[in-house]
Amino acid sequence: MHKTFKNRLLADQKNFAGVRRCMNADQFREIALQTNSVDSFIQMLRENTEKLKLPAYVSELAAMEGHIFKLANRLISVKPYSEGHIINPDLSVFSNTWKHLAGILIGATHGCQPVKEDEQVMVWPSPNENKPMSRAITSEDLLVMKMTMENLSSKQVAEQTDTNIAAVNGAVLQALDSGIIWGPKSKIIRAHSLETRSVSNKNKTVSKAFGTSRVFALQWHITQACDLNCRHCYDRTPTEPLTLSREIAILDSLYDFCNTHNLFGQVSFTGGNPLLHPNFHRLYKEASDRGFFIGILGNPTSRDEIESLIAIQQPSFYQVSLEGLKKHNDYIRGTGHFQRILAFLKILKQTGIYSKIMLTLTRDNLDQVIPLGEFLKDRIDLYTFNRLSLMGEGANLIMADPSKYSRFLEQYMNAAQSHKTFDLKDNLFNILLHKNQSTLFGGCTGYGCGAAFNFVSILATGEVHACRKFPSPIGDICKQSLTEIYHSKIADRYRKGAEECSSCQLNLVCRGCMASAHSYGLDVFKKKDPYCFI
Ligand code: SF4
Ligand code: SF4
Repeated sequence: MHKTFKNRLLADQKNFAGVRRCMNADQFREIALQTNSVDSFIQMLRENTEKLKLPAYVSELAAMEGHIFKLANRLISVKPYSEGHIINPDLSVFSNTWKHLAGILIGATHGCQPVKEDEQVMVWPSPNENKPMSRAITSEDLLVMKMTMENLSSKQVAEQTDTNIAAVNGAVLQALDSGIIWGPKSKIIRAHSLETRSVSNKNKTVSKAFGTSRVFALQWHITQACDLNCRHCYDRTPTEPLTLSREIAILDSLYDFCNTHNLFGQVSFTGGNPLLHPNFHRLYKEASDRGFFIGILGNPTSRDEIESLIAIQQPSFYQVSLEGLKKHNDYIRGTGHFQRILAFLKILKQTGIYSKIMLTLTRDNLDQVIPLGEFLKDRIDLYTFNRLSLMGEGANLIMADPSKYSRFLEQYMNAAQSHKTFDLKDNLFNILLHKNQSTLFGGCTGYGCGAAFNFVSILATGEVHACRKFPSPIGDICKQSLTEIYHSKIADRYRKGAEECSSCQLNLVCRGCMASAHSYGLDVFKKKDPYCFI
């Protein structure tokens, strides 16, 4: 064992890489030869710091790299689940007297010159990267660790810290995702996933993470009422809103579903224009009281309106739509719409709300996608597009030509490299990433096609659909609980996707877009996305 430590220390340059950079190779070798364990190596460095004129922080750095060495050589088993919340048992906290040592650990060259100042750093095995991680501890980390140790609920912490429950839930979710704490396993798992199949060595661990989700989103079309008259609107049939008590029962049903499935809930309010719903503020508050993350997919509104929502809870995002450059956009969405959006984006920026622009891709705006994204790049946080589906008024427009699609995705992906706001959303980007041997991504909803997996859509009538972009009814929330609907046979069929995708190695992050298959008149349970070019 001792021999193994010495050998490993000398043989692998990655071990104690930061310490190595603090001395010359002969010094490192001399010390290594006299040690037989991580602890004796650290001790030896501590005793010889002055004599060898090493940086004063070298033993603190060695202590952290020693923990990394122990974790890495234990061949970490990635099993970050426990019945209740606990702090990762392999996480170690180092109370250093030198700051910025965490930067040296990860080999950063900028902004990590050590300075003599106290700093706490944590080192822990990451569940996703399957390797040790390290960084300075933030006040959010401390809060989550404290609530975990004292078994406090998000509601209790929100009350104590005068914030909303979703903000605390967000910190807990981040801690779970990064493996700082462990918690109960989510019960939404892809039964049909190819979890054990690796797309390529590089993507093996990434693929596993796409088989389960910790967040479940309700895309809730609370009203059909709208102040616009877009040419591609999915549905403008007037409907009577549900009663307030029925709507609150929907939020309760989501709450129960999330509780029993170990999930964090998200409500994306949309419409029509959700802000035109007579009870919008009440529903927003009720969603906030239940600790849900809240997003808005709507139309521009006033700064006063935005501030009144922020007073309840900061929306996680506010998404508005543009359909191309000014002329084309206003042809689709109405004269003056483009300027209204630009003015509204300023409000979102000033109020610190994460802004998203969504474009519905058609044959006629394909060549405007990249120019529009470039025009918007400093005005928004995220820019993305979704293919048109032939529903409602949208049936009057023309879908993009499938034969031009892979070329278009390639151009968009290239543009995305220089514009951080360009978001990849279409699952089919994964075909290009796979061809380039690049890391795959989560696609449309973070889990490939997420229809009836990590989200469902509820219409203003209470009808529930696997995805709003094509008719995919799976239940009625006025008559059934969300749990019943989610576990119905029909929901399972949508989750499973097309038979033609079942043996594809990209299945876990793709399954194409069933809405496109539907628009082409195909059987969505059998036939794959007609735009697929694998
Ligand atoms: S066959 Fe299906 S899963 Fe595979 S790339 Fe095509 S659409 Fe995606
Ligand atoms: S059907 Fe298409 S739009 Fe709907 S979740 Fe699946 S990929 Fe996304």
